[in-house]
Amino acid sequence: MKAADIEKEIKNISSFCDEDYIKIIREVGFVCDLCGKCCTSEFNDHVFLLDDDAQKIIECTGREFLRPAPYFDLCDNLGRFYVMGYALKTKPNGDCIFFRNGRCEHYEIRPRICRIYPYMLHREPDDLGNFEFRQISGLDLHGLYHNEISEESCKVILKSVKEYESGFQRQKLEFIREIGRYFKENNLRNSQQMYDRMMREYNKGKAIEVNIFFLGNFEKEIISKQINNPE
Ligand code: SF4
Repeated sequence: MKAADIEKEIKNISSFCDEDYIKIIREVGFVCDLCGKCCTSEFNDHVFLLDDDAQKIIECTGREFLRPAPYFDLCDNLGRFYVMGYALKTKPNGDCIFFRNGRCEHYEIRPRICRIYPYMLHREPDDLGNFEFRQISGLDLHGLYHNEISEESCKVILKSVKEYESGFQRQKLEFIREIGRYFKENNLRNSQQMYDRMMREYNKGKAIEVNIFFLGNFEKEIISKQINNPE
């Protein structure tokens, strides 16, 4: 992950043609029918939280539903992990912790990613290897498709998607910059070897230290697989 690449991606998102994206929204015509499938492990293994999502959830429910986002970004040479944000906890079966009795128990404060799903902007290579934005989230496998979406709704979706996607990249960029500064200041280095070793220990049940980037600082948590999924 290089800062320059992320900056480029942010520009790509903001310059992505609104009309083209609205065309995709119209073609997909997705309407949520509250089937709840996207809240289960069948579709998603975690719900990543932008900082403002995490703030809102902390204000309304406390921190008990938060965990460091899985797939830690890196590990220092002393065996401490770093990750760019929080995620919602999952139940032992992998479903979202807020998913109860077939419904979102905290629908009013559901994270941004849940609000835009399945209209995320994914960049994928086309047949010629050129990267294009595409919408690819479980098409036709959940919710209702091929409905008529009003111009006004298309614009709202477009705005929310661009805000989420660029917000995600900005959080990543701030994380990368802070990691660079923090490692330099503390004479640390990124170690893939240590990452692999500590993950093996973690998978065996050993507690590990994870530093979560949140609101410009790192918050330290000691976690183990059991603590991570208390239910
Ligand atoms: S926060 Fe709510 S809407 Fe989002 S995945 Fe969890 S249960 Fe579903």
